[in-house]
Amino acid sequence: MTTLDPVPGGRPGDVALAGELSEQLASQGVAGVVLSWVDTAGINRIKAIPVTGLVSAVSWGVGMSPVFDTMLSDGSLVSTDLAGGPQGDLRHFPDLDALVVLAAQPGWAWAPIDRLTQDGEVHAGCSRSLLRRLVADLAGHGVTFRASVEIEFALGLSDAPPAQFEPACTGPAYGMTRLVEQSDFCADALAALAEQGVDVHQLHPEYAAGQYEVSVGALDPVGAADRSVLVRQTLRAVARNHGLLISFAPSVVAGGVGSGGHIHLSAWRDGENLHAVGDGPLGMTPYAQSFVAGIIAELPALSALLSPSPSSYLRLLPSNWSGAYACWGHENREAAVRLVAGMVGNRDRAANVEIKSTDLAANPYLALAGLLAAGTSGVQRSLPLGDPVDGDPAALSDAERARLGIRRLPTDLSAAADAFEASPVLRQALGDLLAGAVVAVRRGEVARVAEESPENVARAFRWVY
Ligand code: GLU
Ligand code: MG
Repeated sequence: MTTLDPVPGGRPGDVALAGELSEQLASQGVAGVVLSWVDTAGINRIKAIPVTGLVSAVSWGVGMSPVFDTMLSDGSLVSTDLAGGPQGDLRHFPDLDALVVLAAQPGWAWAPIDRLTQDGEVHAGCSRSLLRRLVADLAGHGVTFRASVEIEFALGLSDAPPAQFEPACTGPAYGMTRLVEQSDFCADALAALAEQGVDVHQLHPEYAAGQYEVSVGALDPVGAADRSVLVRQTLRAVARNHGLLISFAPSVVAGGVGSGGHIHLSAWRDGENLHAVGDGPLGMTPYAQSFVAGIIAELPALSALLSPSPSSYLRLLPSNWSGAYACWGHENREAAVRLVAGMVGNRDRAANVEIKSTDLAANPYLALAGLLAAGTSGVQRSLPLGDPVDGDPAALSDAERARLGIRRLPTDLSAAADAFEASPVLRQALGDLLAGAVVAVRRGEVARVAEESPENVARAFRWVY
């Protein structure tokens, strides 16, 4: 993963590397390269080029409209003062350091892109560039981050009636039966991910109907966001090879437990994990405490980035392990911020913060940028971290929750958009174009399904992410 913004004519060394790569890829039987990015609505959009086009792509980018900054997940369009409309074109530059040959899609390689204007400036709507710049800025202050995104998904039968979800396994949650039922899919998924250099930590059957989870090793934040996109598309390709449907939607079927995309994050300075080497609770340093406090302070506003779909609010419910309350707890699966201390002997490596309210409708670059901005704002203000919460906050009375400062996260996307709009920290971090696009796209998604039943909302977003 490069740390450099693209430049017209190519990043240093890229043109020569692209020349070598295109020959090498062609000799491996690769015909095309997918240029991948994620829009404001959380949809993975792409353009594909033949391998012979790689030199031109790293030199001058590949054209694509900026209209996707304000496109909804169903392809309809909204606009803001700064984004939308039929005019303009951007250049998409692949990141060669992140290029991967796709194991489950013979003939294809994949690379995430960054977006430049035709004047050679970083496009203000480019969420990957935004995250890279934020990470570089923090590194300039001596702090680096490690992150990973957990991938929960539901497997469905492809011969089910179109409007229905029929789980592709029937065994009990976390049970061996589910692994036996989808043994070939699971083995092929592990093999494809390994071939692509993804270090999988675990694959397990989850709680909800047809649900499984893959968790992967931590990388720098941009690498982690790239990886979360790549892992999902790999799982999708493997599912398709097995005649299965796969859903990463927050709520596959209304009324049940949903699928999350929990984000793990840790801050490091001089090789030390700031969540493990301090004198605070669970070994947190003052930096880690204020960083976590900053995230909790912004969590309602962050919901517009972490739980950005109408479907997200069918999932983000108390007592569903989705983290519906803005508070933290030690290994508490009902707190939006679950502190993972790790096992004795390994804590200095393993300790991290898990943000549970996140789902996979989120653009992972925006989600991580928002979390880093919120945490950093906490650090800049030396925000104190309140007490941890034990048990399920839903079991407390309203008065007890108020006394402990535990807030319920927004209960719908409209409230999340309002909270985001009222957050100077997040609006400033994203900049005017992206912040405006986030609000317009969230309000657009709300309007699309305003009159729909929960069942229809789940159905409308079941297969889009
Ligand atoms: N499926 C739950 C969610 O919606 C999470 C379950 C777990 O803690 O792994 O986030
Ligand atoms: Mg899980």
